[in-house]
Amino acid sequence: MRRHRSGFGLFGFYALTSLIPIVILGVVLAQSFRHDLEQRGLEQGVAVANSVARSAIDPTLSGDSLADGPTPTERLKILASATPLLESGQALQLRVRDTTGRVIFDPTHPRQPPTGGPDHEVVEAIHDAPVRLLTRINADEVDRFKPLGTRAIEVYTPIHSVPDSGHALGALEIYVPYAPIAASIDDSYRTIVTLLVVGLFALWCILATISWSVTARLRKSARTNRRLARTDSLTGLANRTAMAETVGRELASIVDGQTVTVIAMDLDGFSHINEVLGHENGDRYLRHVAEQVSDTVGPRDAVARIGGDEFGVVMPDAGERQVAQTVANIRRALLNEVELGGIALTSEVTIGMVHGYAGDDTGELMRQAALACRAAKRDRTLSLEYSPDLEAFDADRLTLMTELRHGITLDQLVLHYQPKVAAVDGRVVGVEALLRWQHPTRGLLAPGVFLPTAESTELITPLTDWVIEAACRQAVQWRNRGRAVPIAVNVSARCLRDSEFADRVLATLVRFGVSPDLLAIEVTETAVISDPVRAASTLRRLAARGMSISLDDFGVGYTSLGQLHQLPIDEIKIDREFVAPLVTDSDDGRNAAAVVRAIILLAHELDMTVIAEGAEDDATIAELTRLGCDLIQGYGIARPAPIEQIDRWLLARSASMTSSTTTAGGQLAGVRPRFS
Ligand code: C2E
Ligand code: MG
Ligand code: MG
Repeated sequence: MRRHRSGFGLFGFYALTSLIPIVILGVVLAQSFRHDLEQRGLEQGVAVANSVARSAIDPTLSGDSLADGPTPTERLKILASATPLLESGQALQLRVRDTTGRVIFDPTHPRQPPTGGPDHEVVEAIHDAPVRLLTRINADEVDRFKPLGTRAIEVYTPIHSVPDSGHALGALEIYVPYAPIAASIDDSYRTIVTLLVVGLFALWCILATISWSVTARLRKSARTNRRLARTDSLTGLANRTAMAETVGRELASIVDGQTVTVIAMDLDGFSHINEVLGHENGDRYLRHVAEQVSDTVGPRDAVARIGGDEFGVVMPDAGERQVAQTVANIRRALLNEVELGGIALTSEVTIGMVHGYAGDDTGELMRQAALACRAAKRDRTLSLEYSPDLEAFDADRLTLMTELRHGITLDQLVLHYQPKVAAVDGRVVGVEALLRWQHPTRGLLAPGVFLPTAESTELITPLTDWVIEAACRQAVQWRNRGRAVPIAVNVSARCLRDSEFADRVLATLVRFGVSPDLLAIEVTETAVISDPVRAASTLRRLAARGMSISLDDFGVGYTSLGQLHQLPIDEIKIDREFVAPLVTDSDDGRNAAAVVRAIILLAHELDMTVIAEGAEDDATIAELTRLGCDLIQGYGIARPAPIEQIDRWLLARSASMTSSTTTAGGQLAGVRPRFS
């Protein structure tokens, strides 16, 4: 109904606005016609005057100057010609004037001597063209004592004697009655105005018909656009805008004490589906999710797709149990396998929710639900309800990232280095570069404080680029001092997915003139399995140039070595979780030893080196050595430290080794100087 009115409103607007110029055009045309008719009326007066002058006056003149007035004969003749004109009403008044404008003969006062002064209208009529004006009888200067009479066209036209028609002897002043001309003008004017009104009305009707059909089409396309603007084209669900409208509508209709629950859901690992199975299958999967969620929610609940793999549900006046039940049902529905591209897929969702009350702001509720969803993702919780504490998290995160962005450019980042040594002889085989941030107010920050957030944003790219450059710069310094120390840098999942990352690393090596075997890459097992296809492509390009690849934190991601055999991995780094309990006399210790032994066996089968991280004491180092671990890293060898300290440690290390038995590599096994 409302839509209908607004459609008519649009037409009414066009109809009215087109009427305004048409009315203006009508008025202007009518006035111009009227003016034209009046001019023609005046010309008619001139024609009458000329005809009187030529037929009645000119023949009465002898050709002598009229400076002293007409001769008595001329007077009689003029009187004889003028009287019938005046009596018949063809002329209301007429006078003969001399060339200066004086009245030299007036048939109504034939004996009157010349009167009046010079008259410029007479002069103009004699020298230019007849002068005509619309006036009233007795309006002339010479009649100033007489009362004004009817309207008349006053014409001054030159008079000549007939044989000497080229030379004006004076002028005839004649008053032609205006009433019959005015009546004819009014008549014509009425006809023209009638035609104009009819014509313009017809024109307006045509324009109105056109604007009606145009507005009808506009109304139709506006209706379609309105529908499309509120629909997600992929799934046919409502989109974010429509969801916000629904939330707003529900909020406006609830009474005190009732709630509107706003749910934001994010599919876990959807990008993986998209990349492995292709976008077409990704789209199919999203449609499947849309169907599942729509079929699961209650009849009053509304489902929307609010982002790539984000869905929203609005539940008006649902109790806590009903919300929990719906959320559980959605989870269960998505855990039902669906086959896509020959693979059975299920998905987990992370859910954030908020309960809105009457008077709450729609945009705020949508934002809070999304924030709760993000926080749930970060905390690896299945679902989280919004609480104001989450705001601080988001604000802190934002501040931290802004500061980090500046920190990178202001050179506030530093690398600490931790040695990796051979288990059998303690020989230093390289160092791991570990990032620190010298924060201007918070002091030295460990990567755990800022890296997880940086990894969830694009900031990880410039940050990793910085680390690689700093590591290359250090490798050059060591090489210049005759020391070849391979440096391992940690690389996040996002960088592995970046198709340009490998090129950037290789370009940096070239720029610093660092040989690829002096830069190793450490990637975590979870980073690799989050996107194995792209990770493999990046790692292969780096390995092909001679860089060594280490699989960090191995064991916590539950991936089997077999699954990773296609990747160009040189080294497996056993996670601290299995190293720490190794020498404890407990089930944990025995299990850890079994895991470590299995990993070592398998890795060796696959021709990979095994390194253990987090070896904190001599007993652990000894146990790892006994189990066949190749390399060891941990506080038990040296803690990560700034370059000056690491340099001193390396010096002391090589001095202590040369004082022991010499090995083939020129370095010595034996005492392991602690660095702490
Ligand atoms: P990670 O690569 O597994 O590095 C080893 C972590 O264990 C380091 O923590 C190191 O200080 C610590 N650690 C070494 N030995 C021992 C030990 O014996 N006992 C114990 N309890 N811990 C030991 P850190 O420096 O805090 O780094 C934490 C994680 O941050 C690193 O784990 C790595 O995943 C990440 N990270 C560090 N620097 C970078 C970087 O430049 N880029 C990226 N993407 N990640 C980095
Ligand atoms: Mg590492
Ligand atoms: Mg590690």
